[in-house]
Amino acid sequence: MLDPVNTRKWFDDLAVGSFNGGVLEVICPDQAAGDFLKDNCLNNFTRAAGQITGHLVSVKFVPRSQNNGSSAQSLKINGIKLHPDYTFDTFVVGPGNRLAHASCVAVCNSPGTTYNPLFLYGSVGLGKTHLLHAICAETKKNISDARIQFLSCEEFVNRFIGAIEQGTVHEFQNTYRNVDLMVIDDVQFLSEREHSQEEFFHTFNALYNNRKQIVLSADCAPSDLASLEERLVSRFKWGLVARIDQPTFETRIAILKKKAAMRGFEIPDDVVEYIAKAVTSNIRELEGALTTIYAISKSTGREVSLDLAAEALGKHNEITQRQINITDIIGAVTDFFNVRLTDLQSKKRSQSIALPRQMCMYLARSLTRHSLEEIGGHLGGRDHTTVMHACAKIAELEKTDEQIHAQLEELTRRIKK
Ligand code: ADP
Ligand code: MG
Repeated sequence: MLDPVNTRKWFDDLAVGSFNGGVLEVICPDQAAGDFLKDNCLNNFTRAAGQITGHLVSVKFVPRSQNNGSSAQSLKINGIKLHPDYTFDTFVVGPGNRLAHASCVAVCNSPGTTYNPLFLYGSVGLGKTHLLHAICAETKKNISDARIQFLSCEEFVNRFIGAIEQGTVHEFQNTYRNVDLMVIDDVQFLSEREHSQEEFFHTFNALYNNRKQIVLSADCAPSDLASLEERLVSRFKWGLVARIDQPTFETRIAILKKKAAMRGFEIPDDVVEYIAKAVTSNIRELEGALTTIYAISKSTGREVSLDLAAEALGKHNEITQRQINITDIIGAVTDFFNVRLTDLQSKKRSQSIALPRQMCMYLARSLTRHSLEEIGGHLGGRDHTTVMHACAKIAELEKTDEQIHAQLEELTRRIKK
C-alpha cells in the first residue's frame, strides 16, 4: 500500500508532457521517480486518464532529462487543436461510412470543386468529427498555407454573438468569409438561431461564390434540421449529402483492433468478438467498452479474458443498448398526464391534450433518431412543420418554465429507465 503523504510529494513534482496518439506522457523529476511511479501508480493513472478522456489511453512516465519535447505536437488550426488520432489512417472504412469517407478524401484532393458543400450526417458517435479533423489535417499537409477555419457550429454562433456585442462584426465577417476551407461541425446547433442563420447564409454564399470548400456535419439530414431556413436547407443540399450509418459487425471488429493496437494493448480475438457483438450502438460506446475492460484489467491485475469482458460489460450494456422508441415515449407521457393515446392522435387542441402531445414530439425529437415526418405520423398524421413548431415551443418552455422543465426531466428519467 502506498503511503499517501509520501506519494503526494511525488505527485507535486509531476507535469503533463504531451498527449498524442493516445499516449499521455507524464514528466517526472528523474529515472528513479519514473520507475517508482511506473511500479506503483501506473494503473491509477491509466484508469484516471481513461475516465477523464473517455478514451483508451496509455500512460508513460518520462524523466525530465529525457523529455526533449520530441513528441509530435498536435496540429492547431486557428487555435483549435486537431486531435492527433483523428486522421484518415486511423479511420476504419466499412459499408456504413464508405461514401462519407470517400467524399472526404475527394474533397482533400480537389477542394472547392468536386463536392461543395460536403454535408455529412449521422447519429452520435459514428465518426463525423473524426472525419472533419482528418480533412483539416490532410488539407494542411497538402497545402501548407491553406487558410482553414474549423469550428463547431456552437463556436461559430458564440463568436458571432461576441462580435455583435463588441462591435466587431466587420472583422468577424472578414475572418470567416476569406478562407480556403471552412469546416463546421454540428450545424444542427443553428436551429432556432435566426440571426446566426442569416450570418451563416452570407458566409456560405461568399465562400461558395469564390469556389472555396465548405464541409458541414449534423446529426440529421438537411431537411430534418428543425427550424432551419429553407434557403439554408436547400444550399446544404447543393453539393453532396453523405449519410453515415451504424458500423457492421466486421467494421466494429476492425475498429476495436485498430484502437487497441494504437495504444499498444493486446486483446484476444474472442474478447474483440464479444465486445463487437455486445456493443452495437455507436463507435464511441465501443471505445468506451474497451476502455472499461482495460481499466478493470489494469486495476485488478487480471488478464483481459472473456470472463472479465462479460463481467465489465454485462450490466453496462443492458442500459446503454436499450434503444428508446416512440412507443416508450408515448407510454410515459400518457401515463404521466393521464391522457389517452387516441386523444394525443386526435384533433383536440385543448391545453390539457396539446401540451402532452407537444412534449411527446419534443422528447421523440431529442431522444430518438426519427424524422419530423415519422414523429408526426405517430401522433395523428401531423405534418413536419407542426412537429417543428411543437419542438421549438417546448424547447423554449423548458428554458423559461420551471414546471415544464421539471416535467421533462421526470419524463426523460422514466423513459430511460
Ligand atoms: P461523431 O462526431 O459522429 O459523434 P466522433 O467522430 O466523435 O463521432 O467519433 C467517436 C469516436 O469513434 C472517436 O473516438 C472516433 O475516433 C471513433 N470512430 C468513429 N468512426 C470510426 C472509424 N470508422 N474508425 C475508427 N474510429 C472511429
Ligand atoms: Mg461530433
